[in-house]
Amino acid sequence: MISTTTSSSVSDIRTDVLIVGAGPVGLFAAFEAGVIGLSCQIVDGIERPGGQCIELYPDKPIYDIPAIPSCTARDLVDRLIEQCRPFEPAMHLGQRIETLEQLEGGRWLARTDKGVTFDAAAILIAAGNGAFVPQRLTLDEAATLEGQYVHYSVSDADIFAGKNVVIAGGGDSALDWALALLPIARRVTLVHRRNGFSATDSSVARVHQAVAAGKMDFVIGTIAGLHASEGPLESIEVRQMDGSVRIDADQMLVLFGLVAALGPIANWGIAGPAGRISVDTSYYESSRPGIFAAGDIAAYPNKQKLILSGFHEASLALRKAYTYAYPDKKRVHVHSSYDTKLAERVAAVHA
Ligand SMILES: Cc1cc2nc3c(=O)[nH]c(=O)nc-3n(C[C@H](O)[C@H](O)[C@H](O)COP(=O)(O)OP(=O)(O)OC[C@H]3O[C@@H](n4cnc5c(N)ncnc54)[C@H](O)[C@@H]3O)c2cc1C
Repeated sequence: MISTTTSSSVSDIRTDVLIVGAGPVGLFAAFEAGVIGLSCQIVDGIERPGGQCIELYPDKPIYDIPAIPSCTARDLVDRLIEQCRPFEPAMHLGQRIETLEQLEGGRWLARTDKGVTFDAAAILIAAGNGAFVPQRLTLDEAATLEGQYVHYSVSDADIFAGKNVVIAGGGDSALDWALALLPIARRVTLVHRRNGFSATDSSVARVHQAVAAGKMDFVIGTIAGLHASEGPLESIEVRQMDGSVRIDADQMLVLFGLVAALGPIANWGIAGPAGRISVDTSYYESSRPGIFAAGDIAAYPNKQKLILSGFHEASLALRKAYTYAYPDKKRVHVHSSYDTKLAERVAAVHA
């Protein structure tokens, strides 16, 4: 539940609006915040912006964005990032907002899992289906080895130098890392449940070449056990159609893809049973004044989980957010075509 606290500290990042989620809706919200005259900070639990567009379907076409007859999901995200460049919104990637508390006086204090804190006049939650988290191995022994010998992302590639590395997965990340670690690892073995990959053609071709040249091993099967009798990881058991094989391994990188999990938002006291945040459609404000929801996470009658709906919701939410940031100011709406300050900023970016 959201609790109330008495004060924020000088090290908190003070902003008009904190945007939770850098999916398409969070990115557009950052642009709109700038247009409206609000400072903003964006936080996303994963290392790159784009939300579902980048994590789930980067190369698929999208046909229902107004005035863009067709673009890939990746193109759309690139355009949204380009669109918010005039306002240079600060993005804090790879960290999840974990807690949200109301300060005396009505502002909000949000804290990430990395300890960064924000003091915001309003919060815009554009968290989609929740934070993306890696799909983990379902083996009991994996938990004790996690962090030291079993990894779900790479924060320091040097730990793989000179090691026997097993990479599990068949998507872009698994193939990219298998190729990237080839020059530094002692041996790289790629393990995937089938003889085919869900990755870009060029990466697939490079992996086939490396295997054919004897530079990399490829094993088809599922991870059935991790052996670490002395402490460190020693080998990995892979179950196959006709038995199982053991592969020597010092380090393991598991890249099975990401799944969305509502995570901490479920504890903020504003999410409904299905994990959505009910909002009033006049300003997409939740039951807690000052907390707004836009995009897939917002719930209201006839809600359509479409990118364009999220854009509209964010735009209206920010107009109300302005009244929390600047209660004594009256904002006068100017069409962007007459907004000279905006024109100057956009021109400066493209100069
Ligand atoms: C295969 C597929 C095809 C689609 N095609 C279309 C289409 O053609 N047209 C269309 O309009 N829509 C389409 N959609 C739907 C569209 O992608 C979603 O409506 C859109 O991504 C929602 O955007 P969002 O910004 O609300 O959420 P998301 O894209 O889900 O982004 C939310 C972000 O919030 C982050 N986050 C969550 N919780 C936290 C937290 N606590 N702290 C920090 N960060 C957090 C997540 O990591 C994520 O990056 C498609 C969806 C899929 C899966």
